[in-house]
Amino acid sequence: MSARIVLARGKEAPQFRRHPWVFANAVEHLNGRARPGDTVLVETHDGRVLGRAAWSPDSQIRARMWTFDADETIDDAFFRRRVTTAVARRAALPALAGQDGVRLVHGEADGLPGLVVDRYGDVLVMALNAAGVEKWREALLAALLRATGAAHVYERSDSDVRRLEGLEPRVGPLHGAPPASSVIREHGVRIAVDLVEGHKTGFYLDQRDNRRLTRDLAPGRRVLNCFCYTGGFTLQALAGGAREVLSVDSSGPALAAAQASLALNPALDATRARWRDADVFELLRELKSTDERFDLIILDPPKFAPSSAHAERAGRAYRDINRLGLQLLAPGGLLMTYSCSGGVSAERFRSFVAAAASDAGVDAVTLQHLQAGPDHPVALAAPEGEYLKGLLLMRN
Ligand code: SAH
Repeated sequence: MSARIVLARGKEAPQFRRHPWVFANAVEHLNGRARPGDTVLVETHDGRVLGRAAWSPDSQIRARMWTFDADETIDDAFFRRRVTTAVARRAALPALAGQDGVRLVHGEADGLPGLVVDRYGDVLVMALNAAGVEKWREALLAALLRATGAAHVYERSDSDVRRLEGLEPRVGPLHGAPPASSVIREHGVRIAVDLVEGHKTGFYLDQRDNRRLTRDLAPGRRVLNCFCYTGGFTLQALAGGAREVLSVDSSGPALAAAQASLALNPALDATRARWRDADVFELLRELKSTDERFDLIILDPPKFAPSSAHAERAGRAYRDINRLGLQLLAPGGLLMTYSCSGGVSAERFRSFVAAAASDAGVDAVTLQHLQAGPDHPVALAAPEGEYLKGLLLMRN
């Protein structure tokens, strides 16, 4: 007999809308006993069953919904179905055809809350970020191997989110003999991905389509790539025919990795690439004081606001770099500006950038709204999953 969570009266609305998270303050009580990750029934105060969820007593997200079908059993076959569907969804998307680096499972949106699986060639990197998926790790691994035929699987369950679930970090090989790094091809460019030490699962796959856009916009342009990490945007700008690319990051190892990836692409003209190990906030001021101008500027900073509680402070940081970025644009120049902060909505981000333009005394128009690629789907009922948002602006 499963334990049951009874939702507080008036707190059921998210689950009525098929939202996957049950917050601590929505739980009236737990009937029965459940350990972290156990499957529990989710009920309204008057006994209506809304579905099944994974119990996570240490997290503010007290339970994550597996299913809104009260009759669906959570067992190995359930995970096989969910994983197969997620993999098939990517196979049906032409934009992903021929890409070595693809997110195969994107947590809540794929009905597998807390699970991330990225494919880099024939290596899968799996991250288990919640108590529920941790409990089902063997079933998930078996389902992934079956659905993909992957030769190697590496675990990167070392995100901060995992700590909030009361889980220790876990990293290491899970299947086969995964290499420490993998060279992938993205839009024809070769990039080395450090699976062991790289950010997230090794690379920012969510920016794949936007890097393609950079490539298309690059011909003849003088490009400034801020927060370049391992050079994803830089390499695409060079491949697109940028006149020059200045790439900035405060991480020496990231810059070294970027240059190593550039060397894997002899067709790209490395003499057009300049690299600066610097703080972007300071470097932008320095460039401004020397009257430098660029035709295309990319601002892809780290998460300034992990939650909405940090949105105010994050707003000041976004406003600062975007003001400087806009001022450094030549007339008719383009700014690609991003926020990957879950705590900042697309509209809030737009308002920060609009304030930055006003501070800069610059007129600009939005040409395009940018987001993560289609291998990072967003649950319709949970728009906060839309963590990456961006704008392509043109300065008048
Ligand atoms: N655009 C990259 C991902 C950026 S990740 C891609 O497409 O792959 C954010 C990067 O910002 C990290 O590499 C981190 O080292 C860098 N960073 C964080 N704070 C910084 C700062 N103040 N100045 C310069 N780089 C910074």
